[in-house]
Amino acid sequence: MTHTLRYRGRFAPTPSGPLHLGSLVAALGSFVDAHAAGGQWLVRIEDIDPPRCPEGAADTILRQLEAFGLHWDEEIRWQHHRHEAYQQALDQLAAKGLAYPCSCSRKQWQAFSVYPGWCRDGLSDTTKPVAWRLRSDLAKRPIDWQDRLFGFQQFDPEVLGDVVLKRKDNLWAYQLAVVVDDAEQGITDIVRGFDLLDNTPWQCQLQTALDLPTPRYLHLPLVVSNDGQKLSKQNKAPALKENADGIRHQLFQALQLLDLAPPDALAQEPPETQLNWAIAHWSVEHLVATSHRTFQPEP
Ligand code: GLU
Repeated sequence: MTHTLRYRGRFAPTPSGPLHLGSLVAALGSFVDAHAAGGQWLVRIEDIDPPRCPEGAADTILRQLEAFGLHWDEEIRWQHHRHEAYQQALDQLAAKGLAYPCSCSRKQWQAFSVYPGWCRDGLSDTTKPVAWRLRSDLAKRPIDWQDRLFGFQQFDPEVLGDVVLKRKDNLWAYQLAVVVDDAEQGITDIVRGFDLLDNTPWQCQLQTALDLPTPRYLHLPLVVSNDGQKLSKQNKAPALKENADGIRHQLFQALQLLDLAPPDALAQEPPETQLNWAIAHWSVEHLVATSHRTFQPEP
């Protein structure tokens, strides 16, 4: 596929806690890739799951991005305002017979690796609350795309199962929200961590089902600690230090984790200088196609 659209990238954090070095690498990778392509870089706050999003976490993330010089173009998009757009997409899928309500509990199908699709042809129990699922048996098969780092990827929809689009508690699922917003914001390029690579086939399936274009994908090696754990809030990854020295040092580490091999002297430079250097030297060719990168953050 030739790539003719003007590049539009994005960083789309779930505000479950402050950024740490792993999420800084994802933000930086998408920022640098967008700027190196002369494109725009947007920020979207994926706050569709309020119990996972403590008060103030999104503001902290935005403040951290600014402190690291990662300034965004256009207004921030907040997913909690987007209920109607997600409902419209779900209605469209339901009208095409591609989405269906499901009252089954996980306990009922625990003997199977994925939900076996029992409610595809009608609810088993109409008195219970329902989730909405996407029919994998009607998907184009196999689902494939070309990752800019990991190359050709191919998945069998049967193995993926009927992903949930709207949960029984009426909250929107990430897969539907991310696809609707990426399309509506005209995102041409998605750059994010390797942990999301196995979500991509559902997103490609949904794009096809909703007649939306599929963007290009670049999944970046995930930063894990010495014991192999993804840096995350759950694993107590330290939040980024926000004093001037800490910012310079961590930004430099993030550049190293993106295989940019920055010269030592760059570590002393302010964010703008480091970012300009990174944009001038960025190339996906330099990235090593590995699923993860070990890094032990200082406590
Ligand atoms: N909101 C997701 C997360 O923070 C990322 C979404 C994406 O980049 O597609 O893990």
